[in-house]
Amino acid sequence: MGQTFTELAKMARTTVRLHPQPGTPGRDDSSMGGPLLWPSDEQWPRCAQFDQHDSFSGIDLPTDPLPLVAVLQIFARDVPELPFPQGTDLCQVLWCPLDHDDVGCAPAVTVLWRDSSSISDPLLEHPPADPLHSEDDYLPRPCVLSPERVTEYPDPGDLSWDFQQRIQQWENEAIHDWSYFYHLLAAPGTKVGGWVAWIQDPAWPACEAGHEMQHLLTIASRESDGQSWKTWTPVEDRGRLGWHPSNVNGRPVRVPLVPDQEPADIMIGDAGSLYVFTCTRCDHRPTLALMQCS
Ligand SMILES: [Zn+2]
Ligand SMILES: [Zn+2]
Repeated sequence: MGQTFTELAKMARTTVRLHPQPGTPGRDDSSMGGPLLWPSDEQWPRCAQFDQHDSFSGIDLPTDPLPLVAVLQIFARDVPELPFPQGTDLCQVLWCPLDHDDVGCAPAVTVLWRDSSSISDPLLEHPPADPLHSEDDYLPRPCVLSPERVTEYPDPGDLSWDFQQRIQQWENEAIHDWSYFYHLLAAPGTKVGGWVAWIQDPAWPACEAGHEMQHLLTIASRESDGQSWKTWTPVEDRGRLGWHPSNVNGRPVRVPLVPDQEPADIMIGDAGSLYVFTCTRCDHRPTLALMQCS
């Protein structure tokens, strides 16, 4: 794309796709939904924002503080691209496993930065999640991570209107199967940094000081969708792609069986993504999470 539209070359960014795969990570490993390296003398965080819990969820809402759930743990040795604050080498992301009204009916996210060498007496086991009072979709299955660096380009909504029109024209004229939107822009799935694969219109937030925030990471329900798998399935997984015949309007077509599109077994809204932003210009590193779904 950088050759067809030379302006795009300047907008190329590297994102780190985390490629979660079900496994048994330990507390010293980077993981999704795995055990966290946690100081035994530090209380496990709980959510007591009872007034924010969505009362229409059909879940028996908790009346006691609800233990947060480990979503991601990433060590600097695996993903040095994360903006680790000075003196830290470990990023931990937890969420409250209930829809919060204040984040648009999505789990409320907490991001922690730590110095792993300072944790000499780690907690051997976290408090278990409370399945009775949690959204089952927000209890991730433990996964190991295989970080992969890829070059990506902005979502059409992050381009000028004129540029979007030119891309549209290229799609209409060219004899190829590629769609900029589905195949060539920002990488889908759970990832760190780079561009945001917006599901709806772009909505870059600002911190309280008015700075535009940066994309810290995305937690996605799916690693790819019915189109994006064509370009974004890693070479290692291509051999595992299966096909099965299907009927569309009475015509048989082949539909790909993409392996493990939902490795962590989470579902945010309707196949949505939770985008987490941070501001590196502010010393206290504010974070803000935003959910979009189809
Ligand atoms: Zn909560
Ligand atoms: Zn700021």
